Amino acid sequence: MNPFEIAQKQFDDVAEIMKLDREIYSTLREPKRFLEVKIPVKMDNGKVRIFTGYRVQHNDSRGPFKGGIRFHQDVTPEEVKALAMWMTWKCAVVGIPFGGSKGGVIVNPKELSKAELEKLSRGYIRAIHMIIGADVDVPAPDVGTNAEIMAWMLDEYEKITGKKAPAVITGKPVERFGSKGRDLATSRGGLFVLERALKNMRAVKRKGALTVVVQGFGNVGYGFAKLAYKAGFKVVAVSDSKGGIYSENGIDIDAVTEHKKKTGSVINFENSRNITNEEILELDVDVLVPAALEKQITEQNAGRIKAKLVLELANGPTTIEADEILLKKNIPVIPDILANSGGVAVSYFEWLQNRRKKYWEEEKVNRKLEKLMKNAFDGIYKVYKEKGVSMRKAADIVAVQKVAEAIREEMM
Ligand code: NAD
Repeated sequence: MNPFEIAQKQFDDVAEIMKLDREIYSTLREPKRFLEVKIPVKMDNGKVRIFTGYRVQHNDSRGPFKGGIRFHQDVTPEEVKALAMWMTWKCAVVGIPFGGSKGGVIVNPKELSKAELEKLSRGYIRAIHMIIGADVDVPAPDVGTNAEIMAWMLDEYEKITGKKAPAVITGKPVERFGSKGRDLATSRGGLFVLERALKNMRAVKRKGALTVVVQGFGNVGYGFAKLAYKAGFKVVAVSDSKGGIYSENGIDIDAVTEHKKKTGSVINFENSRNITNEEILELDVDVLVPAALEKQITEQNAGRIKAKLVLELANGPTTIEADEILLKKNIPVIPDILANSGGVAVSYFEWLQNRRKKYWEEEKVNRKLEKLMKNAFDGIYKVYKEKGVSMRKAADIVAVQKVAEAIREEMM
């Protein structure tokens, strides 16, 4: 199954449980709009290369479309469609007034010079500017993009429209109208959810430092490892696209960050041994945190997962078959649309600050984030208990219910 088929199957399952009206089901099963664009970029060698990009808008019944932009060589239309649908559910779960969208460009950003990357980022905005806007569709960073790229994109949008419009894009640098706390928001939100899950769910008994492994050491994985380490968890393994490292005594996250800056990867770090990205998922630990890409826990390896709880910081890291295997093994999965919704929550705070032209201290951002994440967890946990379904189904039920209500209002 490709990621969109997975997203549709998850939706079909909850639509069935909820006996969702036919019209609402059809409205939500496909995106509202799918745009494919070609982006010509004059490369440093003087030759023009044409890149392919997408913007998918899934649903905007609860508010403007909202979703990140991915720069990755494996981007496909199906992946972007799945990510857009999951954004609709995520914004509903965390209770912010947005719908769901996503963007992607087929490119390995590591192979581009900074000048080429800037031209591509600006070219992408020129290609999609007519369907985005602070009240229409609000992009943000995702895999392969960052705050600097958001600043280039905002600048390009403002040049095209001739107006200042900081709220058109979130995840910007703080000095370019970004929000304090946005860089670590996805990871911090995940940690709030994990703490709440550990308090309520008996899957993991709290005794001493709990062991954690994190797959992916980018914005989200690195941020989570850092915050978890500071909060007293023992992070015994981390990985990136080149491989992973393991130390039963725990890894010093600040030191490994320095090592990655120097060498380009976490591998070959002192006082640890190198392991593969397959091995990292199967370690005998308390909490497994996939924070890289989709389809990492599959029917091939789910049977060998030994963690007591899975916290999905990546989008779509678990396949449908793997989900069933983990359910049978009594390993709770805290689903992506809840676990990683802290990023979009603080993106909402950034959008609000831009519109009100008033900026908050980081302490206020984190406090408000904590409240949103706890409320989101509690709402889903209630459905999980009442209906006896998995946390993923409970989250999907909560989300689809909210979006369906908004569509019903629209149709009246
Ligand atoms: P990023 O580009 O900053 O980092 C991705 C990391 O994953 C890199 O360290 C890369 O080396 C690693 N990686 C890639 N392939 C891998 C593999 N096969 N095994 C192990 N590691 C691998 O991206 P990010 O923003 O940290 O996003 C990570 C995940 O979190 C994605 O699924 C994304 O959609 C999701 N997410 C991101 C945000 C956000 O605010 N950035 C919000 C919600 C969800």
